Amino acid sequence: MSHRPIYLDNHATTPVDERVLAAMLPYFSEHFGNAASINHYYGWEAEAGIKKARQIIAESINAIPEEIIFTSGATEANNLAIKGVAEAYFSKGRHIITVQTEHNAVLAPCRYLQSLGFEVTFLPVQPDGLIDLKQLEQAFRPDTILVSVMAANNEIGVIQPLAEIGAMCRERSVLLHSDCAQAFGKIHLDVKAMNIDLMSLTAHKIYGPKGIGALYVRRRNPRVQLSPQIHGGSQEWGRRAGTLFTPQIVGFGKAVELAVTELETEGQRIAQLKQRLWEKLSQLQGIYLNGHPIKRLPCNLNISVEGVDGQALHLGLQPVVAVSSGSACSTAKTTPSHVLTALGLPENLAYASIRFGIGRYNTQEEIDKVAEHVIATIQALRQAQIPIKTR
Ligand SMILES: *Cc1c(COP(=O)(O)O)cnc(C)c1O
Repeated sequence: MSHRPIYLDNHATTPVDERVLAAMLPYFSEHFGNAASINHYYGWEAEAGIKKARQIIAESINAIPEEIIFTSGATEANNLAIKGVAEAYFSKGRHIITVQTEHNAVLAPCRYLQSLGFEVTFLPVQPDGLIDLKQLEQAFRPDTILVSVMAANNEIGVIQPLAEIGAMCRERSVLLHSDCAQAFGKIHLDVKAMNIDLMSLTAHKIYGPKGIGALYVRRRNPRVQLSPQIHGGSQEWGRRAGTLFTPQIVGFGKAVELAVTELETEGQRIAQLKQRLWEKLSQLQGIYLNGHPIKRLPCNLNISVEGVDGQALHLGLQPVVAVSSGSACSTAKTTPSHVLTALGLPENLAYASIRFGIGRYNTQEEIDKVAEHVIATIQALRQAQIPIKTR
């Protein structure tokens, strides 16, 4: 398929790196054992593969292997962290603080807890997407048990000041959870230096397989209590039951190893491509960058386009480039992104937005081709004066 559009939606998912796939393959058939089979060789083989991956993942965030709980991805990790802490600390307090621009995998569990009687503060963000630490300070209550703030946003790439947030939480003995699905493998994360107590990770955003992720849960200073959300066997120290999916875990470990090794060089290469794309696109009038210009992931560019209809814009882009729009479509209706709305963007600019996520396999040639096509599409729409629909 030589005519497939150029893939620039690496925030949604990434292809599995060939080196990751090669590491996984023997664990489907040859080393097929159940890591819980402690009485024979087959179990030991699987356990050895898992142990190595757990070690790599733990080290990459300055944790110890016993603090890594494998899950099906960041969605499950977020659910386990938020519901698991809420249940375990229920008698201490019922107040949780999070942010309006979090991923739905954080927002939805928080809303669910509201329905059970917990109180949740959804902090607003500033126009650049960063939270105001003074507002966080004011949001703490004596009954606050958990703060959940993502490291980097999945739409606008904005990086929150986690170390400062961690220090504030620690001072008040409030647990800090961070959804690091986007930041992990792209910027340095350190659970000790940042005082993070729970951290959600996923493999498929860093060239690992889908369906595997992890929750880091601090074991010391403080030892985090967590109510399991999936009950069954005693896997993962009783915190998440179910037979461990060895091939996925081995692939996750390999993906992390590669991401850590290549973090600096890839970060720089990708940042240069992003800069190149922005320099070309920003030559047009009426193009706005969404999110903080510097405190953002090297791979992320999110823009709004004045004077064009969002849907028409994306229809025009589709044949050449695979990107995401700043709106979520359910079957019946389209709503502008809750992240862009939280920045205070007017509706037309929230609809007419493009999220570019540059990844490991993108080349300068591709970036140039995309820039050319985006510019041509915008110019054509503006000239044709396609009416901007209100919804
Ligand atoms: C992708 C993503 C998730 C969901 O992760 P899955 O592993 O697909 O469940 C959660 N949070 C953020 C910020 C993400 O980007």
